[in-house]
Amino acid sequence: MDQKIKIAFFDVKEYDRQSFQVENQNYLFDIIYYDTKLSEDTVLLADGCDAVCVFVNDLINEAVIDGLVKHGVRLIALRCAGYNNVSIEYAYEKIHVVTVPAYSPYAVAEHAMALLLTSVRRIHKAYIRTKDFNFSLNGLTGFDLHGKTVGVVGTGKIGKIFIDICRGFGMRVIAYDKFPSKDNGIEYVSLDELWERSDIISFHCPLTSENKHMVNAHSIEKMKKGVVIINTSRGALIDSDALLDGIKQRKIGASCLDVYEEESDVFFHDFSGHIVSDDVLARLISMPNVIVTSHQAFLTNEALQNIAQTTLKNIEQFFSEKQCDNEICYKCAKIGSCSPKQRGHCF
Ligand code: NAD
Repeated sequence: MDQKIKIAFFDVKEYDRQSFQVENQNYLFDIIYYDTKLSEDTVLLADGCDAVCVFVNDLINEAVIDGLVKHGVRLIALRCAGYNNVSIEYAYEKIHVVTVPAYSPYAVAEHAMALLLTSVRRIHKAYIRTKDFNFSLNGLTGFDLHGKTVGVVGTGKIGKIFIDICRGFGMRVIAYDKFPSKDNGIEYVSLDELWERSDIISFHCPLTSENKHMVNAHSIEKMKKGVVIINTSRGALIDSDALLDGIKQRKIGASCLDVYEEESDVFFHDFSGHIVSDDVLARLISMPNVIVTSHQAFLTNEALQNIAQTTLKNIEQFFSEKQCDNEICYKCAKIGSCSPKQRGHCF
């Protein structure tokens, strides 16, 4: 392309702007940054752009895809790994989609362990107490991770690193994966067995239509009393009402949530001083044994740098070459890679 490639970035935060400004010195793309999310109401902002760059909570539904196509946009560049927020089947043969499949699996796996340790050793409580010069230990009794059984759902890049970290703590690891890899030394079990045997359960699989609400009243019933549930994957893997009930009934011992199924209107924004209208989230946050972080697991310097590098490289590769390694379509999503992609683009 002789003309500069024009990209509209949506849902941009200060840290995105900083990392992309630095990386764009290598490309000199014409970038417009918008704080607003991409939606049916804001799609007009992409008019005349070659690509849009979006994050986890931009909702790319059918109407948005039609709008992008109408405004001449050819590429949706996700600056994240998951793409459950994109109507990927509808996008086929209309607009191309690229993702950042890996930027720092360590960032997410380490955050999951940070949440687990914080929860089981009551660090979140101790921090507030000692800030107020309250040095009492009452109510801060935790438990050893050593010897406990952790059930890992999803043993891809992040799940495997989380498993290594858990083994370092002397934990017993069992796992469930829809597509278990062979000969990796991981003990795979059925989901039911994982619910029944795990002291701690951590989610590291993508959200799909079939595993939505895999944590629900029925699965919670099968779990051990006192189980700790960690979700750094996608909020809708867990039915939040069922989780809340499980906590109220003292069945669930603790929960650490970096993601929440209704996070898109709340996470990444400052609501201090406001009335939060999501009663389930407010009730969860009020629980002493629930820790919520705001989709923060990815947020390390290393990850931000890798996200900017891969996103801009994806865009450059898409417009200048016949093939883009990180293009994804609904056929790729089902079988790993579609046959047209092996020869060029997905369609
Ligand atoms: P990955 O593709 O390397 O691994 C995913 C694993 O899940 C694969 O082994 C796959 O076989 C398995 N899987 C697919 N469908 C499944 C199902 N229905 N049940 C069980 N397992 C299934 O992905 P990754 O890089 O390890 O990332 C995992 C997830 O972490 C992403 O999908 C994303 O939702 C989430 N994530 C969150 C953050 C954050 O900041 N909180 C950041 C990055 C990724």
